[in-house]
Amino acid sequence: MENENIKAKSGEKYSNQFISVVFTNDCFIGDSVIADQDFTAGLKRLAGYALQCNLKIWVTSSLRSLDNQVQGVIVPPATNSCHHIGHAIDMNLLHDEILFNSKALAKESHSSLPDAVINFLALIREDAKLRWGGDFNTEDPVHIDDNFFNDHKTIYQAKLEDRLRQLNA
Ligand SMILES: [Zn+2]
Repeated sequence: MENENIKAKSGEKYSNQFISVVFTNDCFIGDSVIADQDFTAGLKRLAGYALQCNLKIWVTSSLRSLDNQVQGVIVPPATNSCHHIGHAIDMNLLHDEILFNSKALAKESHSSLPDAVINFLALIREDAKLRWGGDFNTEDPVHIDDNFFNDHKTIYQAKLEDRLRQLNA
């Protein structure tokens, strides 16, 4: 709770509702980015990092569909993922007309990556809220999220329930 208070003081407010938006920005290409409204600030920062590093974020996945049904009702997924509430994207990076995919973005490939890509990943790592999936125990180099499940468990649950309510309406 102490952590929550500090964040509240910095003026950060999150909604208990899941509010789906289509995020558009010149730095995002590929699939359209569907996100919860409370993730748009993070997406804007990502766009800024991409601009700074002269690359484009090629989105392959954002809001994940929930289709696990019990007797015709969509039920909560078995795993916790920021994709379930629109607080994550999967991406490749496009720089100088070269696409950097999961294999290229994996840590073991970093010695051969251009500075632009390395710098972009560094900016995500330096961001107070964003996480790059390449740092996960099970490396997920195409994944970026804001760790909402761990940082805001209660609101994560509220948003997920709200989304399920919308899907089942
Ligand atoms: Zn992902």
